[in-house]
Amino acid sequence: MNWIDATVVRKHCWDKDLYSLFLRANIDPFIAGQFTYLSAKDEPKLFRPYSFVNDIDDPILEFYYTHVENGRFSTYLNKLKPGDTLSIHPKSKGRFTLENIPLSKNLWCFSTGTGLGVFISLLKGSVAWHRFDNIILVHSVRLISHLTHQKEINSFKSNYDKKFNYIPIVTQEKYIGLCERIPLLIRNGVIEQQIQKKFLPENSHAMLCGNPQMIKDLCLELQARGCKLHSHNEPGHISLEKYWK
Ligand SMILES: Cc1cc2nc3c(=O)[nH]c(=O)nc-3n(C[C@H](O)[C@H](O)[C@H](O)COP(=O)(O)OP(=O)(O)OC[C@H]3O[C@@H](n4cnc5c(N)ncnc54)[C@H](O)[C@@H]3O)c2cc1C
Repeated sequence: MNWIDATVVRKHCWDKDLYSLFLRANIDPFIAGQFTYLSAKDEPKLFRPYSFVNDIDDPILEFYYTHVENGRFSTYLNKLKPGDTLSIHPKSKGRFTLENIPLSKNLWCFSTGTGLGVFISLLKGSVAWHRFDNIILVHSVRLISHLTHQKEINSFKSNYDKKFNYIPIVTQEKYIGLCERIPLLIRNGVIEQQIQKKFLPENSHAMLCGNPQMIKDLCLELQARGCKLHSHNEPGHISLEKYWK
């Protein structure tokens, strides 16, 4: 793999083990929804994929990551400080982009944990807001303090008003809002009731990002409603990005 240098500009700690890393690097243009590889400078064989959080035009790149206990690469990322250099792959990858999904009335963005980041990037651009009548961003986390990127989410709310619904979910501490897992909240219709919109194959496309168990269980719920997985060859209603197996 070809690597170029990236410099750490800033690191933001959202909570214990939850960070945004801001980098400056001369990478090739990317499409919102894509990811690239980051690597340790002195160990080019140690690399992992990370989704962009920043807008495509932003000169500073943001990557939103969680420190996984005993995870080799996230432990390496944790040690980085402003001014340090790491390696980045200049060519971005991935088909989890708006260009790759069919038109529909409603776009549902379902995320867990750091899976939110890719949707922040997608919604920072104007394409999504032109293509869909309604955008529903669902973010499920364990702790209230993990409901990050509120500045961006508030700006979507104020810029797009009724076109945008944000559904935060907190599963492991007392919370005033929704507390159950996403697949159950779809099965029992709670999210749809809250926003007065129904997920039907004829009016909706779902993008799912994050924990593979959420993705598996939510796919089953949506498939039970007649939705199909979307692929390049066979248009459907569900697009996925799994962060691990
Ligand atoms: C296309 C793609 C994009 C990705 N984008 C991101 C991103 O934007 N932010 C991010 O944090 N990770 C992202 N990941 C996961 C990331 O590449 C690493 O796997 C992760 O940072 C852990 O690396 P590690 O070497 O520390 O641990 P590993 O040895 O690689 O992983 C150990 C275990 O950690 C758990 N794990 C991995 N990733 C996460 C996570 N994000 N949240 C909670 N548990 C996790 C899994 O159980 C995994 O088996 C992405 C993965 C893919 C395939």
